[in-house]
Amino acid sequence: MILGCGGHPEAMTDVPDRQENLDRCNCPGCPSNPDDGQAGLYCARGVSEVRVQTVGCICTTCPIYRQFGLADGYFCAVVPEMWDRARR
Ligand code: SF4
Ligand code: SF4
Repeated sequence: MILGCGGHPEAMTDVPDRQENLDRCNCPGCPSNPDDGQAGLYCARGVSEVRVQTVGCICTTCPIYRQFGLADGYFCAVVPEMWDRARR
């Protein structure tokens, strides 16, 4: 499945975009990580500018996910208004 709008940089959580959070982000080890040069922290930075091949999301294993009580995942690929469609 391929999701993602591209060019939609709005963050969807309250996670601060800080190096200390990027250092704890699990995105670099994720099979869906888009090759966009961003490294990760999509929950703070918003979706990737490239379309994402969604073959799994490991956000739920991430300490940031637990610390900030996040829900869902695929923060690199799915903007909030797409969540209903992504769940179908
Ligand atoms: S947001 Fe989820 S799917 Fe996207 S790279 Fe990070 S862990 Fe993977
Ligand atoms: S919740 Fe997902 S996007 Fe956010 S820091 Fe963790 S792995 Fe990265």
